[in-house]
Amino acid sequence: MSKIDVHIHAFPDKLMNAIYSWFRREGWNVPYDGWSADKIFDYPKQRGFDQFLVLLYVHKKGMAAELNTWLYEQAKARPEIVPIGCVHHEDDVAKETEKCLGELGFAGMKLHCQVQNVKMSDERLYPFYETLIKYNKPVIVHAGTAPSDHTGTVGVKYFAEVMERYPNLRVQVAHLGMNETEEFLRLAEELPGVMFDTAALEAKSMSADFPPPEQFKEWIERLPDRMMYGSDLPLLNGTAAEIQEHFESLDLQPAVQEALFAGNAKRFWGI
Ligand SMILES: [Zn+2]
Repeated sequence: MSKIDVHIHAFPDKLMNAIYSWFRREGWNVPYDGWSADKIFDYPKQRGFDQFLVLLYVHKKGMAAELNTWLYEQAKARPEIVPIGCVHHEDDVAKETEKCLGELGFAGMKLHCQVQNVKMSDERLYPFYETLIKYNKPVIVHAGTAPSDHTGTVGVKYFAEVMERYPNLRVQVAHLGMNETEEFLRLAEELPGVMFDTAALEAKSMSADFPPPEQFKEWIERLPDRMMYGSDLPLLNGTAAEIQEHFESLDLQPAVQEALFAGNAKRFWGI
């Protein structure tokens, strides 16, 4: 079975190294510290992944356009990359999203509420959501409070506000919406365009109270057509292999496991 990883990050070297230093300062011990984009892109194949989504994000205004162009070049050289662009809420979000989804042919966009220090419900993002809906393409959002809510910009309440305004928005909720997975799943039951990924779901990257395997199994079996495997490579405190093994050893039905590692991503992302 060829697998798909729906959550990998890569940036140009200089920015990638700045991100690694930030994690070091935060006390993380990233096993992939120092890996370049090329090294990151070479890795999934060794773990059985033939395709993977590469997610950008941006912490300052004026940077998104250049990063999106960089990712476009990477994806042109490597057909296994499914490119996911970024916007900053202080930029012209409609214009940049149009460029990514139209001209550059990106599969979707990423929003990182904590890094950007913006709530998902911020009205500067309305034109962003409207452009995504116009193209019928998804957004990946770090909308949950894990591993910590130090900015006050994340939480299921902001997600709920956006989904009330834009019920047709297609969203991949990163990290199973932790630490509010129950609330996210309840909303998703009413919203067929909402999916989840498993990125960074290993105990060392998450805060205390990491749920036991039975809990993950139960969540996946509750909405088996909404769950997609993602690693969060390389921004992890543990390893991508641990996350993969964690989700491969849940004793899921073969069809559910296939959906988690490939089928759902193929359908949702049209790849
Ligand atoms: Zn991530």
